[in-house]
Amino acid sequence: GSGLMKGKRGLVIGLANNRSVAWGIAKSCAAHGAELAVTYQGESLKRRVEPLADELNALVAGHLDVTEPASLDAVFEHLEKTWGRLDFLVHAVAFSDKDELTGRYVDTSRDNFLRTMDISVYSLTELARRAAPLMSNGGSILTLTYYGAEKVMPHYNVMGVAKAALEASVRYLAVDLGPDKVRVNALSAGPIKTLAASGIGDFRYILKWNEYNSPLRKTVTIEEVGDAALYLLSDLSRSVTGEVHHADSGYHVVGMKAVDAPDI
Ligand code: NAD
Repeated sequence: GSGLMKGKRGLVIGLANNRSVAWGIAKSCAAHGAELAVTYQGESLKRRVEPLADELNALVAGHLDVTEPASLDAVFEHLEKTWGRLDFLVHAVAFSDKDELTGRYVDTSRDNFLRTMDISVYSLTELARRAAPLMSNGGSILTLTYYGAEKVMPHYNVMGVAKAALEASVRYLAVDLGPDKVRVNALSAGPIKTLAASGIGDFRYILKWNEYNSPLRKTVTIEEVGDAALYLLSDLSRSVTGEVHHADSGYHVVGMKAVDAPDI
């Protein structure tokens, strides 16, 4: 590694398994010298997350469910005691009922709309409010978003509306926390086959479509997203805040997407 992240301590939220976007980001940060803490959501994920944490010598800071404020209290208390300080936070959390990640957006239920917004959007604000006071030397907060926030994507539905609100949150948080030298940015990743993505209808088709239509003619890996995150989490991006940066093989710049995949 380059030592780019040497001396930096970061909390990574949203690690489920070795296909998680959070895993790609954690690996890149660790490879460049960061010291990491991770959380897991519930006992079943604990068994998957602990061996991954071991691989990176990361601290396991405990169970964290963004809908349970007591779990946030416990994790931040733990971090304050063991580290006393935080340099960066990765928010790689999203959830929606998969029955509503297919079909029409207009059919979204109130219950799932509110739950999707709570888990996928409000959680960034609550975590930022708790993390910022620990960032005594300044800090970088990064969330994960998707192009479905900007343009209508098939099946993305309520999650697209949530990501639009998440991206707006990034801008508001950047302004609130900027005076404390805490930066807030989003990484808009191209589609990747993860646990969360498997809930989205026709995901295989979306992957192929991206591969055939992006300027780089490939989908992105969690390692590539991890390396892009490194820029936003490190001091290389010290003048950048409130930004939505695309790591999507350039897909979002193409106006006329016309190349159909032959094998789908
Ligand atoms: P993933 O399933 O590996 O990770 C999702 C994580 O969210 C899991 O670790 C899960 O435990 C966590 N989570 C869900 N509800 C939670 C709750 N109530 N409390 C705490 N944690 C909770 O999938 P992923 O694709 O790596 O998703 C990570 C982020 O990347 C998400 O924000 C997702 O929208 C975003 N993203 C993914 C893609 C993609 O194609 N995979 C593309 C762009 C953005």
